[in-house]
Amino acid sequence: MAQLIDGKAISGAVKEQIAQQVSSMQEEQGITPGLAVVLVGEDPASAIYVKNKEKACEEVGFYSEMYTLPTSVTQQELEDLIHTLNEKEDIDGILVQKPLPKGLDEKALVNLIRPDKDVDAFHPENVGHIMQGDFHFLPCTPAGVMELLRASDVNPQGKRAVIVGRSDIVGKPMAMLLLHQNATVTICHSKTQNLAEVCQEADILITAVGKTGLITGDMVKPGAVVIDVGINRDAKGKLCGDVDFKSVEPKASYITPVPGGVGPMTISMLLKNTLAAARLHSGL
Ligand code: NAD
Repeated sequence: MAQLIDGKAISGAVKEQIAQQVSSMQEEQGITPGLAVVLVGEDPASAIYVKNKEKACEEVGFYSEMYTLPTSVTQQELEDLIHTLNEKEDIDGILVQKPLPKGLDEKALVNLIRPDKDVDAFHPENVGHIMQGDFHFLPCTPAGVMELLRASDVNPQGKRAVIVGRSDIVGKPMAMLLLHQNATVTICHSKTQNLAEVCQEADILITAVGKTGLITGDMVKPGAVVIDVGINRDAKGKLCGDVDFKSVEPKASYITPVPGGVGPMTISMLLKNTLAAARLHSGL
């Protein structure tokens, strides 16, 4: 039986630490970290994520601004908003919720965010820093996974880590963070042959694909640490990950549930980045 990694509890502890730090920053320096979140359109999942981010800001004592814009907003209007937020002194972090509706250039917008306010760590300058291992901000979901491993006393050094999924926001930066911690890393993707065989070699198996039931028990090495980043709906509409929990859990040593695993960590890492940005801006 695997030990469950409780992302909700670990994220709660991180948020508590952040709240304490915010409270002393406010008392000693009169500084309140500020986050601006931009949501375009009516994607229901995005609306929930943004609401959760707003709630998390309140919980730790951040100042926050939410910009909810209609699908009809133009690229120029969005770019103007980013320019305004770049200059706003009470805003330390800017986040544009993805995906943006078709017709809007997501990359161009991200590239306009000032790198020292890019709390998602998607700006090419921050991506470069992550490659080099000298970063202010870490991409939230991979950073959350690293925090889950740390909290579970799983040291990646010398371990064989397999990541399934090669997106710019999860798979690729995840590989980099594990590499910085001296794991031997393999990235799998939709064109990988013999996925099961590669996964079977993993001491740490991380999946970020978006396919229900992709990882089954026969693909997992006994005693592996299994981290499920996927967020999907099963046939009954219930939230689930990429991992077939029923067959994998008996073989793993540690496993994250969905929901309640990686998801809550992504938000607490966003708060951590915003706090780091506020420190940076106030010269602390
Ligand atoms: P994406 O669609 O950008 O990338 C999916 C990746 O999976 C691609 O690299 C693709 O090559 C790979 N892939 C597709 N089919 C495959 C297969 N059969 N075998 C192996 N690899 C395959 O997705 P993303 O943005 O990285 O998100 C992945 C999942 O993680 C989604 O379910 C998303 O909702 C979830 N997610 C969760 C969080 C969180 O906070 N928990 C954050 C971001 C994304």
